[in-house]
Amino acid sequence: MKILLIIDMLNGFCRKGFPLSLEDSTTKIENEIISRIREYRRNNFPFLFICDSHTMNDPEIHNPYPPHCLEGTIEAKIIDKLLPFSSEENIVRKNTLSIFFNTDLDERLSKESIEEIEIVGVCSDICVHYAAYECTIRGFKTIINDQGTLPLFYNQEREIHRMKKILNVSTVKECPMPNNT
Ligand SMILES: [Zn+2]
Repeated sequence: MKILLIIDMLNGFCRKGFPLSLEDSTTKIENEIISRIREYRRNNFPFLFICDSHTMNDPEIHNPYPPHCLEGTIEAKIIDKLLPFSSEENIVRKNTLSIFFNTDLDERLSKESIEEIEIVGVCSDICVHYAAYECTIRGFKTIINDQGTLPLFYNQEREIHRMKKILNVSTVKECPMPNNT
């Protein structure tokens, strides 16, 4: 079974005016993510939103990151465009860069007998990069969607290259959906 993980598509990263807002517009990746969600639905494959949600006591607050995506704030909310695809059941909240630490993601993946994980969202130089590493070391076939991710600081092409080279991930083009093969 294959799953789509949608990482940190929150106002605090994807909309302007917040401490960790991306400089680039996320419109293009939002459209790609919606088309991936639709494709996963068509194939009866699951998808999950992984969402930063902090308290001021979390270890990464102030070091290295400024306070951001505090729980219950507009920053920590999924962007309006993707909100209709989310429900309490398909949201996993995290309070570090790790998508597994302090979350029930491991359990959810094993319940669904997941073998392949496609990652979309932000940021390809931070959270997405660590997520790809964490999925890879757990033995999942890890797929990065280069059209569905964006970096915070660095260059997207470089980040995709780094993940391919350092983490041995695949890209979507190399891994079509089973019904398209
Ligand atoms: Zn955070």
